[in-house]
Amino acid sequence: MSNIVNLNSIIGIATHKSIASEIEHWVNGKKTNFKRAKKETLDWVDMIWKKREEKIVEIANGFEIEKNYKNKIKHYIIKNLKNFFKSIWPQFRNHEYISHEKLESFELENYKIWVKVDFFTCDESGNYFLSDWKSKKQPSIEISTSQYYVYALWCKNFKNTTLENIKIRVGYTRTGDISTISPTSKDIRETVKKIRTECRQWRKSDTIEEYSPLSDESKCKKCEYLRKCRKGLKLFKNDIFRSKRYDSDK
Ligand code: SF4
Repeated sequence: MSNIVNLNSIIGIATHKSIASEIEHWVNGKKTNFKRAKKETLDWVDMIWKKREEKIVEIANGFEIEKNYKNKIKHYIIKNLKNFFKSIWPQFRNHEYISHEKLESFELENYKIWVKVDFFTCDESGNYFLSDWKSKKQPSIEISTSQYYVYALWCKNFKNTTLENIKIRVGYTRTGDISTISPTSKDIRETVKKIRTECRQWRKSDTIEEYSPLSDESKCKKCEYLRKCRKGLKLFKNDIFRSKRYDSDK
């Protein structure tokens, strides 16, 4: 995990961390435990919050944040965990475990592609399930489909299986809903094309000077490079650094 996080990512990171830790207990033969998950994750939020001037990008950048933000974050994390253990986790009861949060890679032409699937399982009919937990509200599925098709491409090679046996499951912890996607050959062909095009484009640019920064207020606010970026700083006319204005939440 990155040493510095932005406000919007805290809920997602905490939810994922906690679910991964409970899956680890389950893999080792113990039962998942909501209370333990809640305690671990809220302790982590307290730890981040104590060091917020260096750990949270927006605060490190000098922006004021609304009071009670920490309590709001905690509220959503608890809600996410409740939804996960009540509605999402039971749907994997009969699945066989393969891995979780494991970094894997595969080669496509000369490119190395990395994937990290939140939860990888199979059912008794030989279907593979690549599951992803989303802590944001639906619908974010369209934005993530490329990522899911890359997972499917990896699974197809890694398990030497057919696309018909690969299912993508997206578990929305904010609501407890699950969506299932069955990637088609066309989806995979387009994904391969996209990987090829984007990798070629990135390989053309070797140095940081070849990338032109695209400033945008909401993006730059939570960017850890803001203090070093002239284009980003212009948006805020430097007034964010005149004084440190942290909230007083303890
Ligand atoms: S601060 Fe600079 S590098 Fe960061 S998002 Fe803005 S433009 Fe991009």
